[in-house]
Amino acid sequence: MTSGPNSNATPRRAKVCVYCGSSPGNSPVYVKAAQELGRLMAENNISLVYGGGTVGLMGEVAKTIVSIAGPDAVHGIIPEALVKWERDATYSTTTDANGYHVPEEQIYGRTTVVKDMHTRKQMMAREVIEGGPGSGFIALPGGYGTMEELLETATWNQLGIHDKGVCLLNINGFYDGLMQWIKTAVGEGFVKGGNADILVTANDAESALKALREYKVSDARYGLDWGSE
Ligand code: AMP
Repeated sequence: MTSGPNSNATPRRAKVCVYCGSSPGNSPVYVKAAQELGRLMAENNISLVYGGGTVGLMGEVAKTIVSIAGPDAVHGIIPEALVKWERDATYSTTTDANGYHVPEEQIYGRTTVVKDMHTRKQMMAREVIEGGPGSGFIALPGGYGTMEELLETATWNQLGIHDKGVCLLNINGFYDGLMQWIKTAVGEGFVKGGNADILVTANDAESALKALREYKVSDARYGLDWGSE
């Protein structure tokens, strides 16, 4: 039991960063999984930080959460250069100075436009790091962008920059190949055995949120911080 000046402070809300495709995928199971994750996050009072696009799986997660928990539960962070590509006209009533769509806050939540990709990634990670118990990162299926963000986040965990869970939501066995690669990399001596579980896996949204709540950090990690990366 905590005592002292902060004992009556409201507990920090869990914050989950979801990495996922800017495309919906070919099977409806992917969109369904994105909606299910959004629904469970909203019902469990978990807020979302994400890439800020309105397209593909990322738009689905954001829309679902806002429809249940309201716009304050979602923060999208998008680099200037991607605004043109990752916001469509579906729920946009205004355009910015360049004529690009500005998504409705009442549909997609709060959005922040930042100067570049690195700023976005750091801001998203910081929000998770500062979140309450159960905060972490979840990857739904996606393409190169998803994989790049996912592996960078795993690497930041390996370096000791954060200690939050990183969970693959393995819909349709989508991440079986990546899990196999981790085994191979450990077997061949390129990933330390203790770091094999930096990426954990779950087959459904409920198990993914549970995996973040129960996440244990590896003791094989380095102890760096942002400045020493
Ligand atoms: P994708 O999985 O390829 O559909 O991309 C999902 C998201 O990853 C995109 O919406 C981008 O915002 C983001 N992303 C992050 N890093 C990169 C990168 N280096 N190149 C392209 N997209 C990226």
